Amino acid sequence: MMKNRISQIRSMLESKEISCTELTKKYLAAIDAENNSFHAFTTICETEALATAAKVDRRIAEGEKLMPLEGIPMSLKDNICTKDIVTSCCSKMLEDFVPIYDATVWAALKASNAVLLGKTNLDEFAMGSSSETSVCGGTLNPYSKDHVAGGSSGGSACAVAKNMSVYSLGSDTGGSVRQPSSFCGVVGLKPTFGAVSRYGAISYASSFDQIGPITASVDDAAEVFNAISFYDEMDATSDPKTKKVDLTKLDGNVRGMKIGVIREFFENGVKPGVLSAVNNSIKTLSDAGAEIVVLSMPDIKYAVPVYYILACAEASSNLGRFDGIRYGYKTDSYSNINEMIVKTRSEGFGKEVKRRILLGTYVLSSGYYDAYYKKAQAMRAAIKQAFSGAFAKVDAIIAPTVPTTAFKNGFTESDPIEAYMNDICTVPANIAGLPAISVPCGMDGALPVGAQLIGNRFCEQTILNIAKAIEQSIKF
Ligand code: GLN
Repeated sequence: MMKNRISQIRSMLESKEISCTELTKKYLAAIDAENNSFHAFTTICETEALATAAKVDRRIAEGEKLMPLEGIPMSLKDNICTKDIVTSCCSKMLEDFVPIYDATVWAALKASNAVLLGKTNLDEFAMGSSSETSVCGGTLNPYSKDHVAGGSSGGSACAVAKNMSVYSLGSDTGGSVRQPSSFCGVVGLKPTFGAVSRYGAISYASSFDQIGPITASVDDAAEVFNAISFYDEMDATSDPKTKKVDLTKLDGNVRGMKIGVIREFFENGVKPGVLSAVNNSIKTLSDAGAEIVVLSMPDIKYAVPVYYILACAEASSNLGRFDGIRYGYKTDSYSNINEMIVKTRSEGFGKEVKRRILLGTYVLSSGYYDAYYKKAQAMRAAIKQAFSGAFAKVDAIIAPTVPTTAFKNGFTESDPIEAYMNDICTVPANIAGLPAISVPCGMDGALPVGAQLIGNRFCEQTILNIAKAIEQSIKF
């Protein structure tokens, strides 16, 4: 399989080795062949994709220079708004929801004639780790159909791993770009909070949510990041300090870099096969001239409760808008407005979403606010500070992306708390708003393992470069 798919496809298009229409048809055929068994896509946009491809072919015929990512067949997680194309969040609540505007990220890609193949599967409202809470059913792991693709961006990761899409955009609130990428053997980048516009991404927890690329290689991730990372006045948290990656300097040279190993990321519950794959990567980096610095961050043990308290609190507020009045699902029969709202929400939301709304409402209610919400906010500040302290000593931090490989089908439903605990390595970067990437670093039996690099704010270049060193060292 081609690794740096984007640059290779671009040169094939430019040299007219393949037309964009032929290329798009190949991807549509791959979706046709694989999607019924893997459930990566929820909507396939054949007509739109072929129309864009025809436009790109006309431009190539006229000798126009291709714009960044022009003509590259891609997909979007189905919580990213696409004008005139259903955006369902894989929830009964939004099953027929057709946005009247494009999310900023999609507007930018569309303007450069990106070929949208379709929308990808996710856990309902991006809440979960397996994509199994999707109203469409779960996405299967490309390496083993007994296992999940991960979540919540499971559809995107599977689509890239099975080459049903060159790249995909997912969203990462607590690990949803990185965890499925780790489970599916692909690259997933969660940018710095504020580096990529959230406008038009259906909100789960607004102070954590971030859109990021899922790709076949580190170079591809850098290229997609550059295309979607810019200041957007439509998002109040968009940050003008965001920096593009210098692709010419992305060479995997880590000599002289200081890379932190935080002890707490390697304790309790990290599967031996995951540990040895990540340790091999650490050795690779050290052999390549990086200095490995062992650090301790005791507060990491609070990251999971902090994340679930704060993310659920924000979700309970964000999802308040689904009331059957403005848009989305509405119950059939009711005798008054209160009954209408209660029935709409009871029927429209699935079990996991309800669990989180209830938990969030609970921690925000008077009497419990101080005990949970306020404490979690204080701990969030402490974790942020601990990372600042670490970045005074190191350039980046390496950790497993997930303590385990892909879960067996049905696991998250049977043990939701254990599934929450498995977010321990991904949620800290969201809590602190830091960029983080998962890169394949080996196999544990038949299943892929991901190594995670966490960087300081707006240091995407640094973590991409270290990820590249790991990518270059493994045969996958
Ligand atoms: N697994 C995490 C959760 O269930 C991550 C979700 C996300 O990043 N959207 O909340």
